[in-house]
Amino acid sequence: MLKDFKKIQFKMPQKFSVWHIIIAFGFFILLQMYLMNPGVRDVSYSDFKKMLQEGKILECHITNTMIRGKLRETERGTTRNAVFITARVDDPELVKDLELMGVKYAGNYESPWLKTLFFSWIMPLLILFVIWRFIFRRYGPASSIMTFGKSKGRLYAQEDLNVTFDDVAGIDEAKEELQEIIEFLKTPEKFRALGGKIPKGVLLVGAPGTGKTLLAKAVAGEAGVPFFNMSGSEFVEMFVGVGAARVRDLFNQADQKAPCIIFIDELDALGKARGINPMGGHDEREQTLNQLLVEMDGFDSNKGVIIMGATNRPEMLDSALLRPGRFDRQVVVDRPDLHGREAILKVHAKEVKMEKDVNLHSVAAMTPGFVGADLANLINEAALLAARRNKKAVGMPEFEEAIDRLMAGLEKKKRLMNKKEKEIVAHHESGHALVACSVPHADPVRKISMIPRGIGALGYTLQKPTEDRYLLTKAELLDRIAILLGGRVSEQIIFNEISTGAQNDLEKATEIAKLMVKEYGMSDKMGVVTFEQGDRPLFLGGGFAASKEYSEETAREIDLEIKKILDESFHRVKALLTEKKEILQGMAKTLMEKEVIEGDELRKLLDELHKANGKTQPS
Ligand code: ADP
Ligand code: ZN
Repeated sequence: MLKDFKKIQFKMPQKFSVWHIIIAFGFFILLQMYLMNPGVRDVSYSDFKKMLQEGKILECHITNTMIRGKLRETERGTTRNAVFITARVDDPELVKDLELMGVKYAGNYESPWLKTLFFSWIMPLLILFVIWRFIFRRYGPASSIMTFGKSKGRLYAQEDLNVTFDDVAGIDEAKEELQEIIEFLKTPEKFRALGGKIPKGVLLVGAPGTGKTLLAKAVAGEAGVPFFNMSGSEFVEMFVGVGAARVRDLFNQADQKAPCIIFIDELDALGKARGINPMGGHDEREQTLNQLLVEMDGFDSNKGVIIMGATNRPEMLDSALLRPGRFDRQVVVDRPDLHGREAILKVHAKEVKMEKDVNLHSVAAMTPGFVGADLANLINEAALLAARRNKKAVGMPEFEEAIDRLMAGLEKKKRLMNKKEKEIVAHHESGHALVACSVPHADPVRKISMIPRGIGALGYTLQKPTEDRYLLTKAELLDRIAILLGGRVSEQIIFNEISTGAQNDLEKATEIAKLMVKEYGMSDKMGVVTFEQGDRPLFLGGGFAASKEYSEETAREIDLEIKKILDESFHRVKALLTEKKEILQGMAKTLMEKEVIEGDELRKLLDELHKANGKTQPS
């Protein structure tokens, strides 16, 4: 089991209650009474005098207020020295009588320093201490005041974790990218000796439930290192400074356990871009974020501490977090495709008994859009249904019913696509890809997918830059615009209507056209002029602060130029896609079947389609 240090710390079996205090108090009072008044024999002064006369007094101590002494008493032949006490009376004869009877006497000037010390200092302090203990145990144990800044990060011991890559399925790309991290954690010395540079921070990006936490745990499991798990929202507390202290403490703990992994879930809760809300930021979150940045910078990565963060909204993160030396490596954890879903189902199916006719491949085919967590849940639901039906094993009917149930819930939550939407998305993405494969200056397409990714996108087309680019020519920029427009144009050609799905593409295309005219001086009409100062306003795209240094007339011309570039690109793309309509449709059909097409597959497919349609393909 995982160890929750907080709990262990406060399990000391000490129960203090009001009764303990009352009993202790009573005890002290009794003690005091005894010491003050050892109630031996209380005699009256007259009796005392009588006894004195009778010669029964052995010795006595005289104080201001009382006389205390020993009494010689004979009882059945034995002598007993009983102690007596009497109140002192103003008696001038006393000393004379004592002398007369030969009683040893001594004035006692009563030096009660010990008593005073005890009663006026030690006892009150003791009582206060007991009360203090009592209150703290009861109302605010050390947990809230003493260990305020202690990180709640728990240390998962390796044995307890017990997660390996075998438990993670369907996200092979992410696994591959993390392989290097595992190697490093296993043998940090080897990397140090080679002088290799190891990333400090890895950001796992993906929708909820795609297995980011699982993946981080598996990395720790594979490498055999401790795993610290903490959620971004846990850092952000009510009190300013606590979050920062937690971050410090977490890194301290990790420092002692290196090599190890620190996993911060929901990084966006903590690392939201600063300054987005100028009307009063969140001081505490900002402090915590700053502390995290400081700790990450101060960390010697060669020590073997890898910080893994997870988020489903990377665009929300403060850019400072993504700088080199921080979370500079990003690993995308995609929603699983058909094969991936089957693989995940297989992992989780090991835990339940299934009938022989259960076909996990067809279960996977019935669950597009499901993520790992949904699939785990699906197996569980099916098993519960089988149990309710008193079956010995889970069969296909249970899976079907469980899918129906989960789908209904998911449709509301994630808006799974209906058939028509799927067709649109498939043609949209194929449009992007086909343009990218047809124009001369485009980066090769790495992947087309119609598996929803992130919040907005229903599908996506990934291009892989062949090399890092610092300069882009006009032709290249125009090709980029063409690719961006490919999605919308394709929808228009095939369905003769347009959807809202292309808004982001159009924004980006417009942005490029704008830059071409206003900053790069790439428009023939406007000439080689830049209309924008290099410095962008602080607030994202915030046009309101941008100073305009040209006339209204020029502004209108600029707008016209931008429009011209976009219009020309639009016609170019339309001509291209109209000519290759059959190929576009063939691509979309394959995409709907496979959900994902990888780069090499795509090129092969395009070859076949071109041949089948008697078209030539640009090399
Ligand atoms: P995230 O951190 O991305 O929100 P989790 O890692 O918490 O997702 O996943 C929740 C659960 O879903 C896991 O514990 C696991 O049972 C299941 N799961 C998710 N993704 C996968 C996967 N790729 N392979 C196997 N199981 C998965
Ligand atoms: Zn698009």
